[in-house]
Amino acid sequence: MSELVPGAPANQISQRMRYLESLIRQWDFAYYVLDSPEVSDFDYDTIYRELLDLETRYPESADPRSPTRSVSGVASELFNPVAHAVPMQSLDNVFTDSELLAWADRVVRGLRVARGILDLTVEDVQLVFELKIDGLAVALSYRDGVLVRAATRGDGSVGEDVTANVFTIEAIPRRLIGSDAPSVLEVRGEIYMPVSVFERHNAAVLATALESLDSNEHPQKIFANPRNAAAGSLRQKDPRITKSRSLSFWAYQVSVAEGTSFSTHTESLRRLEAWGFPINPNIESIRGLSGVRSRLDRWMAERHSLDYEIDGAVIKLESFAERDLLGATSRAPRWAIAFKFPPEERTTLLEKILVSIGKTGRATPFAQLSPVVVGGSEVALATLHNFGQVALKDLREGDTVIVRKAGDVIPEVLGPVLSMRDESLQPWRPALNCPVCGEALYRAEGEADSYCPNFECPAQVVARIAHFASRGAMDIDGLGETTVQRFFDLGYVKSAADLYYLSKEDLLGLERFGEKSVTQLLEGIEASKTRSLARLLSSLTIRHVGAVAAEALASYFGSLEALMNATAESIAAVEGIGPSIAGGVVAFFLDPRNRAMIERMLAAGVCPPQIEASGETALEVLANKTIVVTGTLSGFTRDEVAVAIKKAGAKPGSSVSAKTFALVVGAEPGASKLAKARDLGVPVIDEDGLLRLLQGDLSVVGDARTVDV
Ligand code: NAD
Repeated sequence: MSELVPGAPANQISQRMRYLESLIRQWDFAYYVLDSPEVSDFDYDTIYRELLDLETRYPESADPRSPTRSVSGVASELFNPVAHAVPMQSLDNVFTDSELLAWADRVVRGLRVARGILDLTVEDVQLVFELKIDGLAVALSYRDGVLVRAATRGDGSVGEDVTANVFTIEAIPRRLIGSDAPSVLEVRGEIYMPVSVFERHNAAVLATALESLDSNEHPQKIFANPRNAAAGSLRQKDPRITKSRSLSFWAYQVSVAEGTSFSTHTESLRRLEAWGFPINPNIESIRGLSGVRSRLDRWMAERHSLDYEIDGAVIKLESFAERDLLGATSRAPRWAIAFKFPPEERTTLLEKILVSIGKTGRATPFAQLSPVVVGGSEVALATLHNFGQVALKDLREGDTVIVRKAGDVIPEVLGPVLSMRDESLQPWRPALNCPVCGEALYRAEGEADSYCPNFECPAQVVARIAHFASRGAMDIDGLGETTVQRFFDLGYVKSAADLYYLSKEDLLGLERFGEKSVTQLLEGIEASKTRSLARLLSSLTIRHVGAVAAEALASYFGSLEALMNATAESIAAVEGIGPSIAGGVVAFFLDPRNRAMIERMLAAGVCPPQIEASGETALEVLANKTIVVTGTLSGFTRDEVAVAIKKAGAKPGSSVSAKTFALVVGAEPGASKLAKARDLGVPVIDEDGLLRLLQGDLSVVGDARTVDV
């Protein structure tokens, strides 16, 4: 683990140890006091363990005040100090099964000696398996059942008084339930930010970031992760800010309970629950170590299904008597161990910010990173989403950045480590021109993304054709982006239609294209000619049309021809299709280059099977007319009538104005709508009138009859 060669001279060893200690102190300060980590937990733990390892091997060079000997953390001067009656300790960590077993062996050896049972084994010991919540520890003091003080861990002996802020956290009881709570009680647990709150906050910040970038306002900061978000939100001077962050809490320990004693952990948790504390539902009492591995596997796989982050599991002794026998070191109890999950965040170098151009011309910045193993795989590239996000995070080429890859989610750059930024690094300037074809990029108003406007931009053409052939679209086997790029470079394809004109002669003789693969590819292309209309539509790169919209359009219009000839109004009337999709469809088919491509495809024999159109085409006469319904109709639910109105080409409205085309009155109508319609001279019709109107019979509003109500 150490970077020192075996047998290195003593001065080199102690130099390395002092260096590691200073790094850890610097990182602790950034993490515990500033709530702004400089490295990922994994990188921190790696250095920490190197120091521990050296201290074990060379005890004579170890510093008695080393950070490994005490609880990391400092109580900041922003809050009043609180001396902990019982020290708030940390936990020792393990990362592998053999390290876990070594811990269990130490436990068993200790118990054997203390209890005089020489044949005691690991499997005889009653344990508790808990999730390790990634938040921050607090100590809550109750007097006569009332919460009187809350403190952070600080350095373990002295914490910070955060009572006013903790009062704002709903999950933490201000007053205990029942009359059997001890008059002096201290409870410990973890304050955390729910993942949903964390994600909502960041999404909201990003949504407004664009406006802030255009103005001179400072946008709110996005949170790096829920742990930092929780720590930063709790340690606020203004409790209203803490309240707005919707923090939550799990209790996991009774540290003081005057006049009450418990014999097991589970018993103490049940009492806490009865007094009103939230107890995590995934705590299990288990015998021996053999059931731990399957539980670790389960939670590693399911960690993202929880609304709180976990960074591992904690395995504890169930019996308080046994805990007392083992005691604690200066830093952590011997009766518990944290098993840390593999890292989902790492620190690495952001070498370059590059821009890729997608099938719609969208310019997406992405990070080229010094490769790191994170979230179970090596990551060298990560999307940066759009130019606005790069500016908001102020990412610069040459920065040390924190990279996150969680579960199946694509790798993400959380942000730069500002304290490690070299002063010479310049802010990144978004590209003004397409990196592939050189056209000036543009940003549509109100959109976060920039686009290359050049339809013939080679990057766009290749991405469009590759998308056309992809599995979710026309599903042509063996035609990935690299092959498409090759065919494009050779001048074989300029649009997806050209695929249908590739000949065997073209392909044979190309490197890595034998007789068999050429035949397979051409067969795949041939087979794609009869893919469904929905697949064809979703393969064409029509703006805003994905698989779901394509399905709705295909089943409504039934044929490509009907859709090509439809108006924007009638397309927008299809259920699930809004004006932006309709606009995208119309713009696509209006473009002569797309029409030519489709004609070329049809001429080559592309022929999606016809399906029966489900919807009647919307009526031109009702286009843009608003129809308001009040009261209950006998033949339609509220949703059904809205759909029927949309299908006919009109718009369902919710309030009556001078522009309302007609007010439909059902049973128990709203008096104000009716009065307003009469005032404004809006025709008032009944359900029969509506049915006729939806057939295009406008006479019902021409000689509007006022219904008797
Ligand atoms: P820790 O987070 O590894 O474990 C101890 C803490 O776990 C307790 O204080 C408690 O708050 C928490 N915990 C969560 N669920 C629990 C449960 N069910 N039962 C008991 N405790 C539970 O230790 P620590 O001392 O708080 O912090 C050290 C760790 O923090 C390091 O290993 C590192 O991963 C991270 N750290 C990172 C940086 C950085 O710069 N990235 C800096 C300092 C510390």
